[in-house]
Amino acid sequence: MDVKTLKKWLQLFTEKVVDNKQYLSDLDTPIGDGDHGANMARGTTEMMKAIVEKNPETVTDTFKLAAMTLIGKVGGASGPLYGSAFMGMTKASMSSENLVDILEAGLADIQKRGKAEIGEKTMVDTWAPVIEALKNDELTVEKIQGFAEATKDIKATKGRASYLGDRSIGHIDPGSQSSAYLFEAMLEAGVK
Ligand code: ADP
Ligand code: MG
Ligand code: MG
Repeated sequence: MDVKTLKKWLQLFTEKVVDNKQYLSDLDTPIGDGDHGANMARGTTEMMKAIVEKNPETVTDTFKLAAMTLIGKVGGASGPLYGSAFMGMTKASMSSENLVDILEAGLADIQKRGKAEIGEKTMVDTWAPVIEALKNDELTVEKIQGFAEATKDIKATKGRASYLGDRSIGHIDPGSQSSAYLFEAMLEAGVK
């Protein structure tokens, strides 16, 4: 991974989030508080602004700036969770250039912060199968979207949606959908 490709990745992620801001908030309305799109659009826009202004020169510095802005600007549960993910990737990028290693470190820090396992209807349900598919060299945009859509059938046991119990079933998890945009952007940017 080189810094130019990483910046392209974050740029494409931001565009997808901003373009789908309303959709992400609509997903959060029946099972949450309807703010996921607004939270993520604000955070990613601030992240790109910081990257353009500060122009970090290394992969590690770019991940770190992304983490800091996401933690500072997103609010809600997803701010600290995405922030943790990018912090984990920051640390991993100091010792490895391997994409799977870096993403695994991101997922590990999401789980350290949020204590969610697979199958609890959180962003973990996109991150974990994406990393598995990447390991097997079979990650596609269709698969990524399939992982987010599969959260429909899950009953939420973590986060705001867990307050709804069985009534959380039948809705896509908003954080899994925003994570799908993150990984679609990763493929589009050609991150390796
Ligand atoms: P809030 O719930 O504070 O309004 P958002 O709406 O921005 O925050 O984000 C909600 C998303 O955060 C959920 O869709 C889910 O994917 C993710 N999430 C919530 N709690 C956890 C957790 N403990 N671990 C991982 N992801 C979580
Ligand atoms: Mg919300
Ligand atoms: Mg909220």
